[in-house]
Amino acid sequence: MKILVASFQCESNSKAKLHPKKSDFEYFQGEDIFKKLVVKDVFEQNGFEVVPSVYAVALPSATVERDTYEYYAAQILDTVRANPDCSGVYIFFHGSMEVEEIGSGELYLLKKIREIVSPDCLIALSLDAHANITDELSDYANIISGFKTVPHVDQKECQERAANALCYCLKHGIKPYAQTVRVPFLLKNDTLQTAYEPLKSLIEETVALEKSDDIFTANLFLGHCWIDAPNTSASTVVCATSKERAATVAKDLANKLWATRRDYKFLCEAELPEECVKRAIAGKEKRIFITDSGDNTTAGAEGDTLGLLELLVNAQPKKRTCVAGITHQEIVEMFWDQEDGESVRLPIFGGTDATVKAHGEILGWTKEIIGRSLTVSIGTVDAVFTELRSAFIEKGNFDKANVDLLSYEIVVVKLGYLFTELKPYADRELFALSDGASCVELARLGLTKILRPMFPLDEFEFKA
Ligand SMILES: [Zn+2]
Repeated sequence: MKILVASFQCESNSKAKLHPKKSDFEYFQGEDIFKKLVVKDVFEQNGFEVVPSVYAVALPSATVERDTYEYYAAQILDTVRANPDCSGVYIFFHGSMEVEEIGSGELYLLKKIREIVSPDCLIALSLDAHANITDELSDYANIISGFKTVPHVDQKECQERAANALCYCLKHGIKPYAQTVRVPFLLKNDTLQTAYEPLKSLIEETVALEKSDDIFTANLFLGHCWIDAPNTSASTVVCATSKERAATVAKDLANKLWATRRDYKFLCEAELPEECVKRAIAGKEKRIFITDSGDNTTAGAEGDTLGLLELLVNAQPKKRTCVAGITHQEIVEMFWDQEDGESVRLPIFGGTDATVKAHGEILGWTKEIIGRSLTVSIGTVDAVFTELRSAFIEKGNFDKANVDLLSYEIVVVKLGYLFTELKPYADRELFALSDGASCVELARLGLTKILRPMFPLDEFEFKA
């Protein structure tokens, strides 16, 4: 018996401007996809023949253009067509890929696959915990397994859970049913962390449920509020031996998840940018980080907003200050040939005098060098401009930019929460509730296509 394996992922952000290009996808085909996916061993140990398709995964970006989407979707469909006799299909999706003119990229591809494979073929998916689940997704997939951790550290276990369930069902001739219940809330992404209550207990409950003989997976999906689409919300998905059992458990989990909607809090001080700047300047701590959450490049934003830089430049703190990773190709291009120490006039804030401080490189997501950075000093504030979108998630990013992180007392980065790698350098963390493509204030996002009522935009009762 054959199982076809593929992965196609890009977390979309409707407000972001840069659509992922074909070249933005990390791409493997054939056996090479198992450099990235762990399911091969599970399938082979269970005696299945594995048919690798493609692995195409891009960083969070704006919506995917139809051409780019179809380029990769067609390759997966070609493999399916070449193997119409496969007993199972396994795909690792994100779950929040929004495609122009198409909508949910996951649902569209699943429908196409279902048109080709036999009705008995079982389809298993692994999804990110921030997937926006369409109601129909469970009509086309038999097994759905989501991450149980935010921040995500269980990608491997999530793949194995789906793969093991798929093997078990195929070997025992079981047809599992997935059932989805949408939970009409969209909470501030950064307040949803599984190490803390109330999510901690709810996740533990899903783990306990999966120990029952008739339940294969039980999942909470927290949704991804930065896509303006009808399928955007939290949800629960349960896969069981019968539709009824899956529906009962999914509804119960949905009611429990809904009941927690008011219980999510930020884990650090979260304030408007002006207040964060005030607190950072007045703070007694050795080094204070501010995260520019509305322009979080790890959530698909461009990293090009200048709001916090402007506040700090105007304030001229008596503390060494750095704003790191501002996407501004023009500035890098314009002044790259200037020596360190030379004076320049930046084309921002109506013309700003600055001094070139350092030339450096941008460290990409997979630790490769992806471009150039130029750091300039505007009074007491250093600004690290990058010619491409970057994410300053660890000290190594500052090192590559030739900027000494340890020399600063105030540091601004374009993230939500600080990544674990930066936390040791932060004596205090301020979460700036800034505007931008990854703004965490739902009311400020101006979503028009989402289902209503939706908490917290609307106050209403809900029972699954
Ligand atoms: Zn996620």
